[in-house]
Amino acid sequence: MGKIHVLDEHIANQIAAGEVVERPASVVKELVENAIDAGSTRIDVAVEEGGLASIRVTDNGSGIDPEDCETAFYRHATSKIVEGRDLFRITSLGFRGEALPSIAAVSKVRLITSSTGDGQGRKIEIEGGHLRVNEETAATRGTDFLVRELFYNTPARLKYMKTIQTELGHISDYMYRLALSRPDIAFTLRHNGNTLLQTLGNGDVLQVIAAVYGTQAAKAMVAVQAENMDYTLSGYVSRPDFTRANRNGMSLIVNGRYIRNYGLFQAILRGYHTLLPINRFPLAVLQLTMHPSLVDVNVHPSKLEVRFSKEPELYSFVEEEIRGAHQQEVLIPRPAKQQ
Ligand code: ADP
Ligand code: MG
Repeated sequence: MGKIHVLDEHIANQIAAGEVVERPASVVKELVENAIDAGSTRIDVAVEEGGLASIRVTDNGSGIDPEDCETAFYRHATSKIVEGRDLFRITSLGFRGEALPSIAAVSKVRLITSSTGDGQGRKIEIEGGHLRVNEETAATRGTDFLVRELFYNTPARLKYMKTIQTELGHISDYMYRLALSRPDIAFTLRHNGNTLLQTLGNGDVLQVIAAVYGTQAAKAMVAVQAENMDYTLSGYVSRPDFTRANRNGMSLIVNGRYIRNYGLFQAILRGYHTLLPINRFPLAVLQLTMHPSLVDVNVHPSKLEVRFSKEPELYSFVEEEIRGAHQQEVLIPRPAKQQ
């Protein structure tokens, strides 16, 4: 008898959970991305105790067909790719089919979903990877996903959780970024009943900036709008007198995805030339659109890092357009911006 055997699905899920579900914010991310992939225009997130007690994500998306509800929790079960070559034309945020089984392996999950508009839906309850309930229920179209007692059966992982404030910080950072990159979706984030974020989903980035950074910030923004052969740039940067002590207020969205890129950060700062006080950074929310062949999003697994194929051209384009936006502002000061 050999010593090697294939692990059973339950253990495999618990191992995968170690990678997919690092902390409450990872659960929020996976559930919200599923809601976006389902075409939702409204996504409500409610967490208790930094997400350690519960995380609830409600959406108005496509819902899950009754016969798919159990399958959705199987490992590598996905509706987003069918065959190998789909991997090279992915337009959804998810495709690995790992999130639901991983989350369900380390928490108590209740899913209520309906893919029809007739008030009929399905309820699933899973505890630590074990299916407890799969039955018909009344439900409106969309999905209501509740995750309770995360890591209740993995005490070693639970021990590594930081304070409620820290865990909440990770969740709200993620939600702010997402709201800024998707002004077309109405988001709410609530913690222990208090509303931390509410966006309208009407496509107005300035409204989201006001919701995330406050109305003063929104009033201090200058519009940027430009395009050349390769790139379209649009969004807002703050006037040089509205700055912060760190770069966290600089949001870059490339082809709809929030990214981080040092070269672009520098290009934005150069665009301010000598206007910025030393060691101060602007607020910026900039959307860049380009042909997918000009950007490689797969450099880092979390997909925050990207690589551009024509870096110098892109950076000088951004720098010049930011500079131009500020010069515009000096030439035609807008009375509404005076505080
Ligand atoms: P992936 O997103 O990689 O496909 P997941 O484990 O996150 O894998 O989800 C499995 C499947 O469950 C998805 O492919 C999708 O069909 C379905 N699903 C999950 N969440 C939702 C949702 N909020 N609305 C509609 N379908 C969903
Ligand atoms: Mg997913």
